[in-house]
Amino acid sequence: MNNLLPIFMKLEDSPCLVVGGGKIAMHKIHQLIDNKALVTAVSPKISKSIYSLPVTVINRRYKTSDLEGVKLVFAATDDKGVNQKIYEDSNNRGLPVNVVDQPNLSSFYMGSIYQDGDLKIAVSTNGKCPSFGTYIKDHIKILSKGLWGKALDDLAIKRKNIIKTFSNYSDKKDAIDRLVRKRLQESGSADKPGGKVFIVGAGPGDPELITAKGLSAIQSADVILHDALIHPYLVFEINPLAKKIFVGKRENKHSISQEAIHKILVEEANKGRQVVRLKGGDPFIFGRGGEESMSLAKAGVVFEVVPGVTAGIGAAAGFGIPLTHREKAPGTLLVTGHQCSAADSQDWQTLAKLDATLVFYMGTKRFGEIVSGLTRNGKPLDTPIAIVQNATMSNQTILISTLKNISAEIEKIKLQTPSIIIIGEVVSYYRKLRECLNTLPSQSAIPMQSLGFDIWQNKTVSA
Ligand code: SAH
Repeated sequence: MNNLLPIFMKLEDSPCLVVGGGKIAMHKIHQLIDNKALVTAVSPKISKSIYSLPVTVINRRYKTSDLEGVKLVFAATDDKGVNQKIYEDSNNRGLPVNVVDQPNLSSFYMGSIYQDGDLKIAVSTNGKCPSFGTYIKDHIKILSKGLWGKALDDLAIKRKNIIKTFSNYSDKKDAIDRLVRKRLQESGSADKPGGKVFIVGAGPGDPELITAKGLSAIQSADVILHDALIHPYLVFEINPLAKKIFVGKRENKHSISQEAIHKILVEEANKGRQVVRLKGGDPFIFGRGGEESMSLAKAGVVFEVVPGVTAGIGAAAGFGIPLTHREKAPGTLLVTGHQCSAADSQDWQTLAKLDATLVFYMGTKRFGEIVSGLTRNGKPLDTPIAIVQNATMSNQTILISTLKNISAEIEKIKLQTPSIIIIGEVVSYYRKLRECLNTLPSQSAIPMQSLGFDIWQNKTVSA
């Protein structure tokens, strides 16, 4: 059983004594000097090379008085009697003493030491087999590839910032632990540089609707490429240290091309960084996540897709609208409103025929074309329709009407983006649910409030 207490002792500017003048004594002197101790070497015979070191040399036999004012003692003589005396004298004074190769005359042992910058690792075998300790030390050296000292310096700088940023101890510790793991993973793969890209769905709006996996990817990101419409909490507050690059598309304004986004993703990952490509809703629903993952795959960059709650699902959930229903809707179709140009590129006939709920994204601009495309092709005029604006955000609103009346209703409000259009019988469940909730004592609604989907509070623009 190894009952030794490993300690790292401060010896800077402290007087230390080495008794002996040969090779082993010199080795001990070196170790002490390296740690900035003030060394005195005592021996009747002292090798030349010791004279060339910054030590005080006393050329005579050891005397008990040599221990005065000393903090630590090494004995490296071949005189058993002297070694024994040094041990006893030191013990009497409570001084730590090591007689080289004599465990029974030592109050401490030196471990096998691996050092790289400020990182120092000492291995003890309890004196059983120092060569095994040396083997382990060498193994650590191979494992570290000489990169851990530099990693420690980098981490020290980042740790300072984390300490400043987080007030809570466990947040600080978590952030630092993650940083260490990530930094050492990077060091481990230093011969094969290459980071990783996480294509993360940020959810529909409410920042709490991100997945736990998405959140943790953001927390440990070096770089975040984000779109418009993503809650600033997710982009800026969770990981203040990450570099932020806005790559959102802005209507009618010059915005970064898709190819340029691919290029940045590949470049940043190839620098060995953890990159988060943060996209609204789900990355693979009208999010060009497919193109981005393909370009990463072609470039040989490791990536992972973290799904998110898409806006259509969020919008429906926020107002208690079931997108599928055993009696009313056998399915749901997510459709883009973008293509509804005058050329009628949508297959309105097919869309109008379906019993499934239709959820239109990006449909605000061509709203009239969506309604007329469906009604002209036989969709009943009394089909319920909902327009949900700013879904799952505190300012979310819903406008409910029918295909017949919606155009007149819409005149009364300013239709804003982002909005989701839900068409189908299931829309009427919003009102049914609300009526039902209104009959309940108010405390029955509390669990829903605590989930954030507060159907009581949601503003109805028109119903
Ligand atoms: N990948 C996203 C969709 C991007 S397309 C997702 O899965 O949700 C952008 C469209 O999404 C907008 O034009 C709008 O129709 C819809 N959208 C995104 N966020 C929204 C929100 N909070 N409320 C309503 N619609 C939203």
